Amino acid sequence: MLIKTFTITPFQQNTRVVACERTRSAICIDPGERSQELTDFILTNGLELQAITLTHGHLDHVGGTSDLAKAFPAAEIILHKDDEDLYYGLPQQPLLMGIAPHQLAALGFDYDDPPQLTRNWEHGEIYEVGELRFSVRHCPGHTRGHVVLAEETEKRIFVGDCLFEGSVGRTDLPGGSHEQLIQSINEQIMSLGDDFIVYSGHGRETTIGRERTMNPFLTGQYQMLRGRFI
Ligand SMILES: [Zn+2]
Ligand SMILES: [Zn+2]
Repeated sequence: MLIKTFTITPFQQNTRVVACERTRSAICIDPGERSQELTDFILTNGLELQAITLTHGHLDHVGGTSDLAKAFPAAEIILHKDDEDLYYGLPQQPLLMGIAPHQLAALGFDYDDPPQLTRNWEHGEIYEVGELRFSVRHCPGHTRGHVVLAEETEKRIFVGDCLFEGSVGRTDLPGGSHEQLIQSINEQIMSLGDDFIVYSGHGRETTIGRERTMNPFLTGQYQMLRGRFI
């Protein structure tokens, strides 16, 4: 399993190319913005990009979809249906975040309408990339349609903005719910083994075991500090 991370966008988002080393089939998880380095990596390594796989619809995860799809027109584009409003509303997302219209171009947030999705993720589906098999798990809470992708043989999980090293995703944006996020994390991520390596949408890699013991949002420490342990 080949995993290459590109940390891009003003949000330091982790865009990843994940490939089956034997068949060279590849996916790009969350292209955050247009990136020549990303396109060149796929081409120079002889990878066949079969899909742009989106964990959720926020701009820092889908902003590069249009350019990548132009470079690799055969690639499917897949997102959960509950985040379609975010995805197709991409040009308006920066404005909803309070960024002024005259700042959009300078920050790289002047998006065109994104390309049509090929299809939607289904919770529980197995998505094959060469010999890799990803189980698709719906994890609402950060957004309504967030999914995570788990490769259970290789023990790797790509969690987008659900879970970070020592933290969890923000839930103050539209569609967010902290209670729902914690439930999703416990049911769809922490239920896997401690030796799974966790690849987050921002920040460093971690493991499920490390987060189980150290992450204050999962150990109960956070609720205690908020005075609502029960
Ligand atoms: Zn997000
Ligand atoms: Zn993000």
